[in-house]
Amino acid sequence: MVFCSHAMCIMKNCISLFGIVLFFVACEIKMEDNLGYTAITKWQGDKQSAISITYDDGTINQFTVARPIMNKFGIPGTFYIITGKVNGSSKGKFIGRPNDEIIKETASSNTNSDNFFERASLIGFTGMNEAVEYHSKAGSLFESGKITEAHELMDEGYEHVRNHNLKSIDQVVFHDNSVDTTTWEDYQAYVAEGHEIASHTVTHPRLAVLDEVNLLYELEQSKADIQKFLGEKYTFSAECPYGTENQRVMEYAYKIYPALRNRMPEPYLDELNRSSKRPPGESEKEYVQWQRGPLNNVSMEVMKSWVDTCITYNNIWLVLVFHGIDGIGWEPRTGEELEEYFNYMNERKAYLWIATFADVTKYIRERKNTGITSVVQEDNIVVNISSDLDPTVYDVPITLKTYVPSTWKTTVLNKKAKQENRLRLKIKKDALGFYVLYSVLPGDGEIILSEQLDK
Ligand SMILES: [Zn+2]
Repeated sequence: MVFCSHAMCIMKNCISLFGIVLFFVACEIKMEDNLGYTAITKWQGDKQSAISITYDDGTINQFTVARPIMNKFGIPGTFYIITGKVNGSSKGKFIGRPNDEIIKETASSNTNSDNFFERASLIGFTGMNEAVEYHSKAGSLFESGKITEAHELMDEGYEHVRNHNLKSIDQVVFHDNSVDTTTWEDYQAYVAEGHEIASHTVTHPRLAVLDEVNLLYELEQSKADIQKFLGEKYTFSAECPYGTENQRVMEYAYKIYPALRNRMPEPYLDELNRSSKRPPGESEKEYVQWQRGPLNNVSMEVMKSWVDTCITYNNIWLVLVFHGIDGIGWEPRTGEELEEYFNYMNERKAYLWIATFADVTKYIRERKNTGITSVVQEDNIVVNISSDLDPTVYDVPITLKTYVPSTWKTTVLNKKAKQENRLRLKIKKDALGFYVLYSVLPGDGEIILSEQLDK
């Protein structure tokens, strides 16, 4: 910086302080093309990538084994719970014509496209354990395009229901597990620790084969219970069971939840689901949501390589989907393995933004929907931000990066709306020049950056 050292020389010999400041700015604007340029960093804190650790089905060890390990490392998780399992919330039920009437009809008419959804909605609530399996299997066939087979399976299931030769159960909550005794009070304590508790429906059905009224009940009632016991904040994201991406389900669900782990509507976001073999580095989109399911057959080495891949690129949002822990739940991993894995992430926190599914979604949307203008004035830089997003929902701090004059020793941030005066920022340097990083909310309005002249 030849010019600047020259400027320092003049400064010493100059009498008027005002004149010096003016001269300084004039020279810097000319010399530094990026001065005042402000952008929202891709990830919060200008990290290299984001990771969300999610758990499905609300099985007990997720909270008694995995949660304490995450707390130890200060890592928040997202837990998609089946609300019908929790005491005090509304249970699963069939809504429609009398059960007997529908069951009786199945004796004289085969299942077809007109009655399939009604029958698939009811069968899980006929009070028989294996009837729930008929619902799930028929749903699986339907979603894989085997419509005729799904109808035939429904007929077979109802034949058993009519003959009462299926095992009876007392409860109609799917995926029920007597050891899953987590209460709403427990969940309240977990969200206070920074975790996200979110909906995985009331009973964990195959939503794609439910008729409209039952489909809506599963989504809306689950949301209502979470809202009642945990608050509006936890009704932002949801996961429809079995990772469904059924178009009809997505259309209904997106009217109720702003974000679904199943599928995101953003055109600038590439999604690689759990079964995708595509390497995330091949994507040219601005963001890649890379879902991985660490099932039993996935080695620790592979799990760690996912984290390494995140650090190699700058556009990857790794979304991990865990189920069982320490023997309870589907495809369980051990607490020891989680300890090793989360420790591995923790050691790389300088590069990783580890946050809940809701927070990462909000950050990305805030970044894409916040307008920035910046004006370089005599002795400060005025940055203005504006967003159309609802500030009561989109409340995740975004990180701004502003290029400042190379002559500034320290930078002071002044948020007009928040009356947060004189927050000192560290000046950093990259290929484009000297810059500062700072956190704001999309609704913060005007921010003034200036050099700290007094000590
Ligand atoms: Zn599930």
